[in-house]
Amino acid sequence: MKHYDIIVIGAGNGGLTAAATLVNKGKNVLLLERHNIPGGCATSFCRGRFEFEVALHQLSGMGTPAKPGPLRSTLQRLGVLDQLEPIPMEDLFRLIIPGQIDMTLKPDRADIIRTLQKRFPDEKTSIETFFDLTYNFFTQVISVMYLNDPEATPDKYPLYFKYALKSAKEVLDSLFQDPLLKTLLSPYWTYIGLPPSKMAFTELAAMFFAFIEFLPFHLKGGSQTLSNAIADKIIERGGDIRFNCGVKKIIVQDNQVKGVITDTDEVIYTNWIVSNASKVATYIDLIGSEHIPQSVVKELKKSTLTQSAFTVYLGLECKPEAIGMTAATNFLFPHTDMEAVYERMKHREITDQDALVLSCYNLADQSFSPPGTCQVAIVTLKYGDTWLTVPPSQYAAEKYRVADAMIRVAEKAFPNIKNYIEEIEIATPLTHLRYLNHPKGSVYGFEHFIKNSELFIPNISHIKGLYGAGGSYGLCGFQPTLDSGVLTASKLLKDMGA
Ligand SMILES: Cc1cc2nc3c(=O)[nH]c(=O)nc-3n(C[C@H](O)[C@H](O)[C@H](O)COP(=O)(O)OP(=O)(O)OC[C@H]3O[C@@H](n4cnc5c(N)ncnc54)[C@H](O)[C@@H]3O)c2cc1C
Repeated sequence: MKHYDIIVIGAGNGGLTAAATLVNKGKNVLLLERHNIPGGCATSFCRGRFEFEVALHQLSGMGTPAKPGPLRSTLQRLGVLDQLEPIPMEDLFRLIIPGQIDMTLKPDRADIIRTLQKRFPDEKTSIETFFDLTYNFFTQVISVMYLNDPEATPDKYPLYFKYALKSAKEVLDSLFQDPLLKTLLSPYWTYIGLPPSKMAFTELAAMFFAFIEFLPFHLKGGSQTLSNAIADKIIERGGDIRFNCGVKKIIVQDNQVKGVITDTDEVIYTNWIVSNASKVATYIDLIGSEHIPQSVVKELKKSTLTQSAFTVYLGLECKPEAIGMTAATNFLFPHTDMEAVYERMKHREITDQDALVLSCYNLADQSFSPPGTCQVAIVTLKYGDTWLTVPPSQYAAEKYRVADAMIRVAEKAFPNIKNYIEEIEIATPLTHLRYLNHPKGSVYGFEHFIKNSELFIPNISHIKGLYGAGGSYGLCGFQPTLDSGVLTASKLLKDMGA
């Protein structure tokens, strides 16, 4: 009878860091992953002479050795920092609205303020006020939410109590007139999937703070190097990992986990499980309706899933400058009406009314693809429902048709991309559903409207011995999910009495 102290289901960021933290504490850990490589979103794949990055566009929270960010410290504690080569990006982002604006911002607060003030002189004072507010507010968020100050009162943290429940749009509207300026200060809404009217100001402030203070990073070799490094560390320290080994059931008796049943019907026993599979899949598929606590049913019923993504991965036989690519991260927006852009995400079609994010990793790291070539990932968010109705017989033709439309939109800002294509791969919401096992291929977990933003997300265990780590148990993104594995493992160890 096989028995482990703890079983971790899924080797995405949250599963990997949870397993690594538990192994570091001397626990007997088994990590089960249905795919044949570790990482979940944090993976790569090869086509021809290109190795394509699946997800990582900008890594937050890393910081430099001289000014380390929280993620650098986490990776150091996990013992993997030495195996990584984090490369800071020179630009925060470039925002292009054809015919209206084409501006690149550097990840430097003073430089951003200067650049914006030059372009929007009438709003000079408000620009300064916005960054003061963002920084001062987020510093208070850190004290209240992350450092859990037990004496958090409105007198001590006035900005926190005034702005924590405001939307990004409310704050931007209160300070600025020009829609172009408001758009320049909010393209990061596409990193969580809710437009500024629905996105908590906390999330916008968090992203500006993290990317400016600790710079946006790329990892040499892509995010797969990070996933491989953590997986190697787990094995080196005595943990077991099985790939191509999905879990099909979590055994629950009397509201206590007892073990798992794998896809090959093997039963493995444990009283402690960390699930990095999506919360919906964990409760509905793995645990099953007879064991789901009412509190979870209630919580799932009131939650909605974020968009999935449609991505075109391009291996181009040219250097970035041949297509006018000058920044590693590019937002190509049709106009300044973000509500209309958000509505477009409910349609499968890609037109010049959609917003695209284009990443060219070679601008951070020339060696990212073979000499004389570059790699570009073009992403747009689309709700999974838009692809669920495509009949299998039409799927291949449909994805190439939509990809072609997407490339035509991209060519409005980056001409002639098509002429340089050597390799192309396409990921639709169905690809994310298949590889990540996320319902509707949702890439950011649950939608975090202000009412269920970070302030109100409970990550509690409803079934004894069951814990969750990863994007659907809190916030999405590399830094939050890597952190969530560590935090979940620490909570489990405490509950175990370890
Ligand atoms: C296109 C795209 C671009 C992104 N860009 C960025 C970015 O630039 N910056 C950023 O910070 N974040 C970005 N993200 C978000 C970030 O990648 C994710 O939030 C994060 O990687 C999710 O980690 P996770 O821990 O939730 O695990 P996931 O990546 O969701 O992995 C879950 C794992 O569990 C496994 N699994 C599921 N069910 C089972 C089962 N039954 N048995 C065994 N294994 C199972 C899956 O196979 C998978 O490996 C992007 C995401 C996408 C898709």
